[in-house]
Amino acid sequence: MAVPPNRVESTLLRRINERRLLEVIQSQGPSSRAMLTRASGLTAPTVSKAVDSLLQRGLVEELEPVEQAFGRPGKLVRMASQSGAVLGVVIDTQTCCTAAAGLDGTVTEEQTRRFTTPDDYLTLIDMIERDCRAVMTDSTGKLHGVGVSVPGLINDRLGEIVFSPNLRLLDKRNPSRDLQQRLGVPCLLLQETDGLCLSERMYGEARGLDDFAVLDASFGLGLAVMSGGHLLAGHSGMAGEIGHITVVADGLRCGCGNRGCLETLATDAALVRMLAEKLGRPLDLKAAADLLDERSADFQHEIRFVTEYLAIAIATAINIFNPTTLFVHGTLLAAESDRFARVLERVKQRTLTASLADCTIVAARSSKRQGAIAGIMHHLTNAWAPTVR
Ligand SMILES: [Zn+2]
Repeated sequence: MAVPPNRVESTLLRRINERRLLEVIQSQGPSSRAMLTRASGLTAPTVSKAVDSLLQRGLVEELEPVEQAFGRPGKLVRMASQSGAVLGVVIDTQTCCTAAAGLDGTVTEEQTRRFTTPDDYLTLIDMIERDCRAVMTDSTGKLHGVGVSVPGLINDRLGEIVFSPNLRLLDKRNPSRDLQQRLGVPCLLLQETDGLCLSERMYGEARGLDDFAVLDASFGLGLAVMSGGHLLAGHSGMAGEIGHITVVADGLRCGCGNRGCLETLATDAALVRMLAEKLGRPLDLKAAADLLDERSADFQHEIRFVTEYLAIAIATAINIFNPTTLFVHGTLLAAESDRFARVLERVKQRTLTASLADCTIVAARSSKRQGAIAGIMHHLTNAWAPTVR
């Protein structure tokens, strides 16, 4: 028997209200029903009904209020941190990690596992499945979904990673589809810089911002742009590949096959490569960071060189997208305050003055691990109901 149209409408309306409350709880933290009523603009009975439904579905949980300064405050409602769980999987060029979190998104080292990225794809999926099952045995909550953060180019229409210049075993693969078959829960594939962007908005300094961008200058060079509250995707989801803009016509060979890409000059990986060349021995990121902390005077030329190109990358993002805030993710230049200050000095020389005046540039605090968690939470919230704003 067909469902009457008004029934469909009321179900949709109920879900839209529930989504609204999920968003309020995600942005302002544990809230009483009275606080939710004020913040959502919904009526008290509607809020109450929606909270009951979310409780029943295990998306939120109630806890006793800590302070009781004025009269008797109601119980607080928060994202389910005990009864519900999501997993974040980060596939990266050197190390992969799997982390479990409650629906509040809190990630801990105790619930994180790491392994060195293997050479073949099937071993990779086996190891991720093993770690997903392992972190879930320590978690008490029901598993709602898994976010899988990957480097490389994801074509949303084809539903696969079409090209991953720095981790070729991912080419033409969809690890989230393969994991979904094994784990039996929704798994979401997301580009790693998009994950960082969602994480800054959900858990970081970009809460409440609709127009900002994240530049990842760690191994690859990627850009994610939140424009008008939506992630800029392009026709097939492949927008933001700032790293493969040619800046030196006959420069170094890039992982993408072209020469002189910005990615080969402006990243942590570029600085590590230059330090290793100077020393005549291989170097990993941690060793490079220690070296720069201890003997930065010996590597002024290399630091200045990569600083210059990172400034060009930042200026490009600001000139083209006019973000209110640009978050820069990286270890060697972005996460160290003196070196980052020198990058920002150079940005002034490269950016249109009016665009720069409109933008704050800060070091990103989010991790790709938190990004994978933010990605699946964003997906689950979107899957619940459309937004009406
Ligand atoms: Zn390239």
